[in-house]
Amino acid sequence: MVSRRVERLTSSLIRDVLAAAQRPGMISFAGGLPASETLQLPDFAGVPASVLQYGPSEGEPALRDAVAEQARQMGLRCDASQVLILTGSQQGIDLVAKLMIDPGTPVLLEAPTYLAALQSFHFFGADCLATPLEANGPDLVQFRAQLARRPAFSYLIPTFQNPSGRCYDRAHRDAVAAELDAAQVMLVEDDPYRELVYDPSCDRTPICARLERAPWVYLGTFSKTLAPGLRVGYLIASPELFPLLLRLKQASDLHSNRLGQWLVLRQLEQGDYPGHLARLRALYRDRRDQMHAALSAELGGLAHWQCPPGGLFFWLQLNHEGVDTRTLLPKALERGLAFMPGEPFFPAAPAAASAMRLNFSHSDPASLQRGMALLGQLLRESPAG
Ligand code: PMP
Repeated sequence: MVSRRVERLTSSLIRDVLAAAQRPGMISFAGGLPASETLQLPDFAGVPASVLQYGPSEGEPALRDAVAEQARQMGLRCDASQVLILTGSQQGIDLVAKLMIDPGTPVLLEAPTYLAALQSFHFFGADCLATPLEANGPDLVQFRAQLARRPAFSYLIPTFQNPSGRCYDRAHRDAVAAELDAAQVMLVEDDPYRELVYDPSCDRTPICARLERAPWVYLGTFSKTLAPGLRVGYLIASPELFPLLLRLKQASDLHSNRLGQWLVLRQLEQGDYPGHLARLRALYRDRRDQMHAALSAELGGLAHWQCPPGGLFFWLQLNHEGVDTRTLLPKALERGLAFMPGEPFFPAAPAAASAMRLNFSHSDPASLQRGMALLGQLLRESPAG
């Protein structure tokens, strides 16, 4: 017999859609994949044989130093002893869930939120409390009301959120920090997209940097800037949480892949990392603008959206709320187009079933145009089109 919690193990819709998207000739707006041409095979020359030996659970010391230095530059008060290198930031979500969630534990989330975090929190039996995410941050009245229900922690993605692409403004960052401090509720701030910024005027200072009393865990990753296949991410935790997270990491996988850590560190120290980020932003800004233009041309009158100031996604709300995008998906896949329906991103009802998430980083301009034309066609043909 498997454990009782396995009953709560849902398959991730995104994995199923991504599997379909692998078919030759498919245009995929479904995943959150970097553009393939930005992934360069690293130079393996000079890799020391010592990276093949077991290493420290905390991560490579020099990489911890580099991460702490970057974090201080973004305003986080921390040192390297608070940095834990992870097997992707997804592992941080898993470790936090293991640390904090028993069956029935309340957890405060944005609605919509990151699908794979929801999957993990559900697996451990969390009672997910949702706060609607609005254009400039969460609905503060509802956020306060949910905090009064004493969640074990709040999981937020304030900067270029997945799936909505939204970025909290300064007032919402300040207000959320003040509420969390007042309630002394722990913040888990997930920040994988912060470097993919196209409109630099947005405030990206982490909310963790504003906290005075509430415990916090900040999650970062090199997946979106260097290569997701390296599986190198990190967490930075307030000092009282760090030893527990470290022990959970030890129990889970001893330590992260040392070769991946070494390659990331070399890129940070010797590669032109700022130049690489600048090129990445220019490429993705361009693709975002192309998708925005194609959306306006093909879907005008059928849907509405905000142009995201950063990140990898457009969040589309169909004008006809009666259309469930889950029922559109099989028809789209049949015609060679993949997207993510909106409903699975919601922690609790009511969900916006007429929403969808569209990725713009992975498709070349021609596919992007064709895909958008297909989507427009599909929506016009749908019964409520
Ligand atoms: N958090 C969010 C919000 C994400 O979108 C992703 C990747 N899609 C992750 C965490 C996990 O990223 P990784 O494990 O590759 O660092």
